[in-house]
Amino acid sequence: TVPGGLITVDDLPLRDNLRGKSAYGAPQLKVPVVLNTNENPHPPSAALIDDVAESARVAAAALHRYPDRDAVALRTELAAYLTATTGVTLSLDNLWAANGSNEILQQLLQAFGGPGRSALGFVPSYSMHPIISDGTDTTWLQAARAGDFSLDVDYAVAEVTNRRPDVVFVTSPNNPTGGSVTLDDLRRILAAAPGIVIVDEAYGEFSERPSAVELIDEFPTKIVVSRTMSKAFAFAGGRLGYLAAAPAIVEALLLVRLPYHLSVLTQAAARAALRHSDETLAGVAAIVAERKRVVAELDGAGYRAIESDANFVLFGRFHDAPASWQRYLDHGVLIRDVGIPGHLRVTIGLSAENDAFLDVSRKLASTDL
Ligand code: PMP
Repeated sequence: TVPGGLITVDDLPLRDNLRGKSAYGAPQLKVPVVLNTNENPHPPSAALIDDVAESARVAAAALHRYPDRDAVALRTELAAYLTATTGVTLSLDNLWAANGSNEILQQLLQAFGGPGRSALGFVPSYSMHPIISDGTDTTWLQAARAGDFSLDVDYAVAEVTNRRPDVVFVTSPNNPTGGSVTLDDLRRILAAAPGIVIVDEAYGEFSERPSAVELIDEFPTKIVVSRTMSKAFAFAGGRLGYLAAAPAIVEALLLVRLPYHLSVLTQAAARAALRHSDETLAGVAAIVAERKRVVAELDGAGYRAIESDANFVLFGRFHDAPASWQRYLDHGVLIRDVGIPGHLRVTIGLSAENDAFLDVSRKLASTDL
């Protein structure tokens, strides 16, 4: 055994609210078809690879210095990207960036949640929201989505009004169910919220609905729109998330961020990826078209696919979803068991990967539904 290998987590003076909890754990397995973490299946173009490599080479000459602590150039370029794609004019001061939107969410809870405070989410939703709440000692409250996994806004407003959470999470499009929320529904939740509302738009580019950045000027003390380069931007490995909000919210996050959290290399690579956003985002339409095909073929094979605005589809209904998940894996296709009885989630991949997934789905339909 390794040094210290005989003790367990239970032997440690861990904070009570972390005892017995499980870590985030999407399996990382070597199988032919990987459709389990909602990545973009299109690899970077040769031009993008060259630009990242050259940018890293130039940045490497300054590796003896700390990076730009406030990532000014990157945030300026992210503001330009959001302005161009949403039609809402945003500036550097509206943008903040971090290592993935998970770090954005963590910084938000460090500043606006914490001991004695609470965060409310509508489940099933992104599993990291409660985990980041636990990590920041923010009390996690949950409310339910409707039977069809949509957000019943009358009920949502009542929950926010009655429970008065300091932070509300609204994931739109929602992971893992795929549906999104209208701006009018968001307005009602924002009006009822006593604190911050985080609209998690990790999959925003896949949806035709307008971005919640349109609401920043209406609710400047409340709304934060969280975004990521991990999905539509095909930059999951680069780890770059960002948010748009009123400048005062960005100022508040400076109180909790670690200095120099975005490395010289991360900033350089993200800026290179942004320079290629036109070509990267052109792939989004292909993913949406494939999603429509996958949904139609699943329906044709006897499954029930939940309508999705994102790059994944929740589908069922299986007699025993964990057993079916294993059978997909036995056929070389890794999808996701998100813990919703009777359902599994598949990320839309390249068309050949989707074909492989659909082949297995047709095989299993006669036994597993
Ligand atoms: N929000 C949602 C809804 C997600 O699904 C994910 C990734 N699975 C994230 C945030 C975090 O992504 P990242 O840290 O890569 O930006």
